[in-house]
Amino acid sequence: AFQRAKRINGIEISQIVQISETAAQMRSNGTDVIALSTGAPDFPTPDFVIQAAHNAALAGQTGYTATAGTNELRDEIARQNNASRDQVIVSTGAKQVLANAMLATLDEGDEAIIPTPYWTSYSDIVAMAGGKAITVPCPMAQGFKITPASLEEAITHKTRWLMLNSPSNPSGAIYTKTEIRALAAVLQNHPHVWVLADEIYEHLSYAPFVSFAAAAPELANRTLIVNGVSKAWAMTGWRIGWGVGPAPLIRAMTAVQGQVTSGACSISQAAALAALTGDRQLLTDRLQDFDTRRKLVVAGLNAMTGITCPEPDGAFYVFPNIEEMMAKGGFKSCSDACNWLLEKAHIAIVPGSAFGLAGHARISFAYSQSDLNNGLSRIADALKKLR
Ligand code: PLP
Repeated sequence: AFQRAKRINGIEISQIVQISETAAQMRSNGTDVIALSTGAPDFPTPDFVIQAAHNAALAGQTGYTATAGTNELRDEIARQNNASRDQVIVSTGAKQVLANAMLATLDEGDEAIIPTPYWTSYSDIVAMAGGKAITVPCPMAQGFKITPASLEEAITHKTRWLMLNSPSNPSGAIYTKTEIRALAAVLQNHPHVWVLADEIYEHLSYAPFVSFAAAAPELANRTLIVNGVSKAWAMTGWRIGWGVGPAPLIRAMTAVQGQVTSGACSISQAAALAALTGDRQLLTDRLQDFDTRRKLVVAGLNAMTGITCPEPDGAFYVFPNIEEMMAKGGFKSCSDACNWLLEKAHIAIVPGSAFGLAGHARISFAYSQSDLNNGLSRIADALKKLR
């Protein structure tokens, strides 16, 4: 019989993907489902980016590139991050940057500290690499952010990484410069701990964003910045992300990547270069659109009894508390509540437990205003049926 490797024991297709696929299945069976479950912008990739890809393909840029990425793209990323080429790796999405980093650094039992709620993949990637995810609860009352005291408490001699995500998926939390400096002060006393700062939602900030690298330059020799074009440029399918960090780390990650994908898609790299060097007015316009949707969703949810929704500072998710709704409906878990919403109200959202924090749900607002309005009224109508 088929047997899994121990390495992937307990690792399943992500709950976010499962819910979205169930919703798609229901839709293909004729049910009118509204899915507010995925983290992909509904905008198209900018035309000038698609044009650059087309030009690259016609110009014959169709072979393997250097494993760590084309010189042109790495140099541009380096330039925008005050780094040098050997401090940059381009990968098949930001996700592969994370996987490369963990595979390149974690030995069996090594620990990665993950402020919770966290993007589902963090813990699975750490586990797959043989490491141990140390999840640190960061409740709504502390803005879903890790405090210096809880960081200090979580560090052991086995800690290899602190995995920070600002702006955060799912909470939208952004760490201020002061908050980063306070965390950096803790890390100063623990030179064996490295920082992975996932800043993929950088350009989706409604409050001031500061990069970890800019706020804590004294930790540059143990900081890996992760970013990419997927979210801001609406390029999730092109699969381009990058890491910027110390050259020896980048070299180790490149060795891993060389045996997994050989490198990112040549045409997508040309497209990403066009995105990075192109006009950014589009980003500003889209941010405004997202901001309008953010306000609409926060106001809509807070108008409902049973749901408390803080305003996110970044990304395109809200992460409301739904415990009152759960109590009213007698739901044992937020997952039961979300399943009920999907079955009875035909609205797909993701339970907070998928992000390590029960009692919440994640709603993506990377959807059209009409989908959002319809989705909100479905939730409101469903809630009225509870008592
Ligand atoms: N990091 C975070 C926090 C994300 O939410 C996502 C996508 O959902 C990624 C990384 C992955 O990005 P990519 O599609 O470039 O692999």
